[in-house]
Amino acid sequence: MTIQHVGIIGAGTMGNGIAQACAVAGLPVTMVDISDAAVQKGVATIAGSLDRLIKKDKLTAADKDAALARITTSTDYAALGTADIVIEAATENFDLKVKILKQLEGAVKDGAILASNTSSISITKLAAVVANPDRFIGMHFFNPVPLMALVELIRGLQTSDETHARVDALARQLGKSPITVKNAPGFVVNRILVPMINEAFFVLAENLASPEEIDEGMKLGCNHPIGPLALADMIGLDVCLSVMNVYFEEFADSKYRPCPLLKEMVAAGYLGRKTGRGVYTY
Ligand code: NAD
Repeated sequence: MTIQHVGIIGAGTMGNGIAQACAVAGLPVTMVDISDAAVQKGVATIAGSLDRLIKKDKLTAADKDAALARITTSTDYAALGTADIVIEAATENFDLKVKILKQLEGAVKDGAILASNTSSISITKLAAVVANPDRFIGMHFFNPVPLMALVELIRGLQTSDETHARVDALARQLGKSPITVKNAPGFVVNRILVPMINEAFFVLAENLASPEEIDEGMKLGCNHPIGPLALADMIGLDVCLSVMNVYFEEFADSKYRPCPLLKEMVAAGYLGRKTGRGVYTY
């Protein structure tokens, strides 16, 4: 049973990116947010993103019109009644996601799959709150969704093989390259990436090299497109710290100890690009 209609909760950064990827791949999408202003902002972001693809000759104006025509929006969960899957991409908060999932259960048709794009919340824990946990899965897209090829498919302890197979097929239909991961804090990519960034702060704190040299070393030595400290400034030092704190608590393992320098910089409000100052000044 292939997925023919996708529902999305949240029209923010990730929700509108997922909606765009689905619509460009030819799938009808219904995107739901809490206000008309939020859904309209999401649609405007998609239109702008499609315009940039046209400028790069990756899309025609007719493709853009067809993609936009596949997207419907609503502030009412009842609009998701015909969706085969609903991907939740709302604000990262456990209680909010539980409330949304409960609300969704009353709105979707029998047999619909529920998925979450959460970066840090346990898929097994979220699955435990729905009536059909075998039809629940993590679908972790990367930002910006239209450009990033990876989707991590996270199987909770309860996720069925059929649910996994259907969502794997959907990710491929969107032109993505999915990898399948068992549920655990950080899944695969962030579990490796964020401790690497944390280690870069230890290297900086020990004055082993300048920030520029640390970043240059990782770019030239590991072929990374961006150094770990410049990346921390992009992600936000506060986000990096909170992810390390989650690992430190969840695994109860000192190898995830957040670097004291990272904590100091967050305490000072040096959060990276968004505050104009992080490791570098902007
Ligand atoms: P965002 O703040 O840009 O968007 C969240 C949207 O959810 C907002 O438009 C908000 O109005 C909406 N929302 C809140 N409550 C709602 C409700 N009850 N019903 C419907 N919509 C509701 O956030 P984002 O960056 O798009 O993140 C969304 C999810 O994706 C989070 O779980 C986050 O962890 C995950 N994620 C984010 C990134 C990233 O780089 N931003 C990457 C991967 C995963």
